[in-house]
Amino acid sequence: MSDSSLRLVWVYPDLLSTYGDQGNVLVVERRARQRGLDVQRVDVRSDQPIPTSGDIYLIGGGEDRPQRLAAERLRRDGGLNRAAENGAIIFSVCAGYQILGHEFINDLGEREPGLGLIDVVSTRGEGERCVGDVLADIDPRLGLPQLTGFENHQGITHLGPTARPFARTVFGRGNGTGDGTEGAYNDTVFGTYMHGPVMARNPQIADLLLKLALDVNALPPTDDRWYEALRAERIEAASQPA
Ligand code: GLN
Repeated sequence: MSDSSLRLVWVYPDLLSTYGDQGNVLVVERRARQRGLDVQRVDVRSDQPIPTSGDIYLIGGGEDRPQRLAAERLRRDGGLNRAAENGAIIFSVCAGYQILGHEFINDLGEREPGLGLIDVVSTRGEGERCVGDVLADIDPRLGLPQLTGFENHQGITHLGPTARPFARTVFGRGNGTGDGTEGAYNDTVFGTYMHGPVMARNPQIADLLLKLALDVNALPPTDDRWYEALRAERIEAASQPA
């Protein structure tokens, strides 16, 4: 594999990959290859070191105990923080999102430190779990169409002063604080509660990550009819009562 290949790192598939989040890796990889890019995909299990030279890192959701184990190992490893210092693009979902914040409540009911890569803190919601289809308007700065996804989480996430909301909900709970925000980002580190997998429902997010990694403003177009059909179906579902 040449040095110029795009390095796509999937973090801890053995711990963090619920609700089909593996699909995010497949979609980013496929859309890169469709643009003729040479992709080197690295799946890093939780007993392996995190490479620090990746271009794009993806982290999925997980149940409460695997989430704590993943946070412990990522803190001990330190590689993801070094990758972020090197300017890597990191995209995280649900449990992965909570881990990238300053702290969350773990399966033992204790405050668990995160990696501090996004200026958010997660607590445990006292009410019903946030479950269902979500529709949200993505931060206009990112230039993306509406966000469609599926959420299933007990944690709720509070944004600190430097985090920007990734999106504002039209339907669904998102961060769950009642302020209408969904997800958050700091520079090139993104977090969302959206499963789906989110890249299959929103391939423009995969393209955003590729553009950031390649430092280009546009990518060659692709045939997105399949994605558009899925989007239309799920956007419709989000507006129906459960
Ligand atoms: N365990 C976390 C929560 O319930 C994350 C769940 C998930 O990743 N789906 O908030």
